[in-house]
Amino acid sequence: MMTVTVVGSINIDHVIRLAQFPRPGETLTGDDYQIIAGGKGANQAVAAARAGASTRLIACVGDDALAHSLVAGFAKDGINTQAIASIREVNTGVALIQVNREGENTIALAAGANAHLTPEQLQHNTAGLACQQLLLQLEIPLATNIAAATQAKAQGATVILNPAPAQALPEELLCLVDVITPNETEAEQLTGIVVSDNKGAAQAAAALHNKGIATVIITLGARGVWLSEQGQTGQLIPGFKVNALDTTAAGDTFNGALLAALEHQQPLLNAIAFAQAGAALSVTRHGAQTSIPYRADIQAFLDAHLGRSPVNGHH
Ligand code: ADP
Repeated sequence: MMTVTVVGSINIDHVIRLAQFPRPGETLTGDDYQIIAGGKGANQAVAAARAGASTRLIACVGDDALAHSLVAGFAKDGINTQAIASIREVNTGVALIQVNREGENTIALAAGANAHLTPEQLQHNTAGLACQQLLLQLEIPLATNIAAATQAKAQGATVILNPAPAQALPEELLCLVDVITPNETEAEQLTGIVVSDNKGAAQAAAALHNKGIATVIITLGARGVWLSEQGQTGQLIPGFKVNALDTTAAGDTFNGALLAALEHQQPLLNAIAFAQAGAALSVTRHGAQTSIPYRADIQAFLDAHLGRSPVNGHH
């Protein structure tokens, strides 16, 4: 049994780095252009696998040439790619990404084959969804996420939802979720509560607990995460201080590394420290999948920051 199963998107990221974002009607020349494997599903699967989890990715790609090298790359990372289907006469998902000098990004998506990962296609891709942890995002049809969560949960899996990109969600999906990991924007989109301070985070977390979600982890960028477990007082867990170059895939790295640590039976606070170390490392590097660290790097980073670890609170 694959302990971590990701049902999600695969994209080809076209990344341009430039001094600042062009305004509407403006043309700016960038400094650098790269094609990188991306998509939240793929990124999170890569992050989980590199962080040491036995990982399967269930997804769809197009029948274009780039798809083959993408899937080969996932296999090289140790991901089980048997349930990645190639859809005829469709393009692989595409993301057009701009990164400015501050390391911020803007992203325009074309879903391509990701839109073809329907509940029927999900059945077609794989014989079953038995796993310990099912990790979902919002770059595939909502009905597929609901079907996947229903099946995996019926087989005893923990369902983790990274509700990105931001959108409002039906109770039908939220009631199947055990752990949710929104960033500030996504938490606001889901609850209508602005998450600009601890009070807002606590209120948003309470609203998500009210939907039946036991564990709420709101990621707060450089500030760290707000952890709230049903029936307990929430707490801010500071992140690591690093020089951010490119925050693309910080959240994806956090989610993948979190699941890998949980798979290795780490207590939740330790798993969050591991995940924040992984995410901090990723923001010091350019790109999405290129920036996702391996288990040994994360461990070395954690060791180097011992004494300043979020777990023991010496900041
Ligand atoms: P997303 O990428 O989904 O918007 P966040 O920006 O909240 O998610 O980042 C996820 C996690 O990555 C944070 O909780 C934090 O641990 C880490 N992180 C993000 N930005 C930084 C940063 N500038 N410095 C250190 N850690 C960061």
